[in-house]
Order: sequence, then structure tokens, then C-alpha cells
Amino acid sequence: LERTFSILKPDATRRNLTGLINAKIEAAGLRIVAQKRVHMTRAQAETFYAVHKERPFFGELVEQMSAAPVVVQVLEGENAILRYREVMGATNPEKADAGTIRKEYALNMGENSVHGSDAPETAAQEIAQWFAGNEIV
Ligand code: ATP
Ligand code: MG
Repeated sequence: LERTFSILKPDATRRNLTGLINAKIEAAGLRIVAQKRVHMTRAQAETFYAVHKERPFFGELVEQMSAAPVVVQVLEGENAILRYREVMGATNPEKADAGTIRKEYALNMGENSVHGSDAPETAAQEIAQWFAGNEIV
């Protein structure tokens, strides 16, 4: 079984959507094996999204991610990384397929409700940034 890292972003926690999103995650066959609510500092958000630091939307992204609490999670399942990206839908909610989390809940490209790792290396790195090994059960 594979693991991926997930964030239920500030736009989702603000609108009380964490339960509805978790229901979609679990219905897709992914198990939530670690979960906690955190309020990211600006520095933590900058580190997390460092790969995008030259992009024009970086400042706004860091601002949004540290503006309110998020829920960080580890999801486990078969092909969890790809599976979760399917369940999330496209980054731009207007382009997301029907039934995906972003199609149903995202507000716009930036406030798009969820994050999921994009590869095994980034998944391992992101999980290690937010969870100790003994917190994942
Ligand atoms: P994530 O990494 O959050 O799972 P993703 O892999 O679908 O999303 P990325 O290209 O990695 O998309 O972008 C990271 C995040 O940056 C997006 O989820 C979104 O919140 C924000 N973002 C990406 N592109 C834009 C854009 N053009 N305008 C505003 N925000 C954007
Ligand atoms: Mg990404």
C-alpha cells in the first residue's frame, strides 16, 4: 500500500467542509492513517510550497495557506498518490471532472480546497515535514 500527504486547505476548514471531504476520501478507498488540525505559519507555508517560489501566485498562495487552520493528513491505499489526485480533480475547479472534490467544493484556482502529493518522493518529504512516524497508524 502507498501513502500520500493531503491538506484540507483554509477555504475548506472555514466553510466546515472537512467531514464532507473526508467522506469522499474514504469512499474512494483511501484510509486516513494520520490527521491533525494545524495553523501553518507563513514560514511553514513558504517551505511547503518552496517549489513554486518563483511563480506569480506564490505570495497569495502562502498568504492563503497561513490565513486559517488546515487539516493535514496521511492517506493510505493502493496507488494512493494517483488515486487521490483523481479524487481531488484538476487544479482549476472549472476544469475538474464531475464528482471530484474540487469540482464540488473549490472556490477558484488558488482556494481549491485540497492538496495532494504529486509523486512518491514529494509524498515522503511532505509526510515527514508534518508527522512523526509514530503518529501514522
Ligand atoms: P496542490 O499542489 O495544492 O495539490 P496541484 O498540484 O493541483 O495542487 P500546483 O501546480 O502544485 O497544483 O499548485 C499548487 C497550488 O498553488 C494549487 O493547488 C493552487 O492552490 C495554487 N495555484 C496553482 N496555480 C495557480 C494559479 N495560476 N493561480 C493561483 N493559484 C494557483
Ligand atoms: Mg502540486
